[in-house]
Amino acid sequence: MPRRGKVTRKVCRNCKAILDLNVKKCPYCGSTDFTEEYAGFIIIINEEKSEITKRKGLKQGMWAIKVF
Ligand SMILES: [Zn+2]
Repeated sequence: MPRRGKVTRKVCRNCKAILDLNVKKCPYCGSTDFTEEYAGFIIIINEEKSEITKRKGLKQGMWAIKVF
């Protein structure tokens, strides 16, 4: 059974960045459209060395795999 994220975080629907609940505006894309429902996430620690970031164009941070 897939584990869903707890409501201590929220996710930007536009770019899927995982953010703190008190964030008013996404620091990555500027969107204010958030959801607390998401499944799975990846953590990018070093964007320079990660192959995933190169392929998907992701930046350093936490990113949800799927948002609802
Ligand atoms: Zn965003």
